[in-house]
Amino acid sequence: MALKSWVESANQTGTDFPLANLPYGVFRHGHSDRIGVAIGDQIFDLRMCASDGLLAGLASNIVDACTASILNPLMSLGPDAWSALRARITSLLSAERASTEEQRRARAMLVPQDEAEMRMPAQVGDYTDFYASLHHATRVGKLFRPDNPLLPNYKYVPIGYHGRASSLVTSGTEIRRPRGQTKPAQSSEPTFGISRSLDYELEIGIFIGAGNALGQPIPMEQAERHIFGFCLVNDWSARDIQSWEYQPLGPFLAKSFATTLSPWIVPLAALDPYHVPVAARAPEDPKPLPYLAPGSAPAAFDLDLEVFLESAQMRASGKSPLLMSRGNLRDLYWSPAQLLTHHASNGCNLRPGDLLATGTISGPGEGSEGCLLEMQHRANPVRLPTGETRRFLEDGDRVTFRAFAEREGLPRLGFGECTGTVLPAG
Ligand code: MN
Repeated sequence: MALKSWVESANQTGTDFPLANLPYGVFRHGHSDRIGVAIGDQIFDLRMCASDGLLAGLASNIVDACTASILNPLMSLGPDAWSALRARITSLLSAERASTEEQRRARAMLVPQDEAEMRMPAQVGDYTDFYASLHHATRVGKLFRPDNPLLPNYKYVPIGYHGRASSLVTSGTEIRRPRGQTKPAQSSEPTFGISRSLDYELEIGIFIGAGNALGQPIPMEQAERHIFGFCLVNDWSARDIQSWEYQPLGPFLAKSFATTLSPWIVPLAALDPYHVPVAARAPEDPKPLPYLAPGSAPAAFDLDLEVFLESAQMRASGKSPLLMSRGNLRDLYWSPAQLLTHHASNGCNLRPGDLLATGTISGPGEGSEGCLLEMQHRANPVRLPTGETRRFLEDGDRVTFRAFAEREGLPRLGFGECTGTVLPAG
């Protein structure tokens, strides 16, 4: 049976943050940015824990990392340090394990989540976005290239492009509709103007923990030891800009205007019980090349994903956000470990705090499309509860992603929210 916390809200049904989760984030309360762990509706302040001696006995580099205002130092320490710290925090917050005196001291380290402002959890040096969902790649490919939806490399190479780290923003940041160069099929010349085809992309972000030295690849069996944790990612995309610019070098300004991250990083240790085998490849598909061959351990994750849309009119009239789609991280063609190993396979060094995103996560059927682009083939646009319709996002639309892991006998773990509202072009 799962441990209970003395923080009562952590034991309530439906909380995203039970004791078994303990995601890391950076929050502002007062004037400083501090590292904390979400527990129920509270944040457990690790900087205060460090200065109060509640982390005494842990290696000094772990305690020092907890006093930073960003997670990169902790990320760099690697999985043995993370598990030592996680064991200590679990013990301090556990109703069974913490002494009355420890509970009294630890209670003073709690900050209500609704009094804190969440910040970017890490300084992201590099951000790479992949294209790991075969269902997404096939549906999108059909729109751009009806005769040739999937390029011949797809089932051999985890496709990615280098994203823009400077425009990563945390959940709640408003998203300014971009301008750019577009060329409708019926026009002979492009024009520069406001994007009319703004879309979201439902993705999971993979934060790199300890990196690798330049020139030293990461073998598959080591890959997950380099993953600090996961968050939600919305890779906002201007499809009209994208369709004109993407050949030959891939997406550029269609993506780099903003990417939203959920502020809590769920540690890989919390998701370990939700490991499942990678989705089986079709019999006619090639096996991964040896350097990407999955080991015997399951490398996919059973993580449910949801997309909600709320228009300004829905907000004004008190309508609940509309569930647009449901997906699952296990449906990817390439596992997080394969993405990481492929990224480092040429000797490219990954650094603590680097972010890899999976690419849009879509399932095989209708209702599991991870972006609006994949719904374009439908005869009718999406109808909102107000009677409005959508092909792409309008100004005032708010997009919210959620994720949770759930299994019989285990507490439900959630990711919190990844949300953003579209502002008119400036
Ligand atoms: Mn993407």
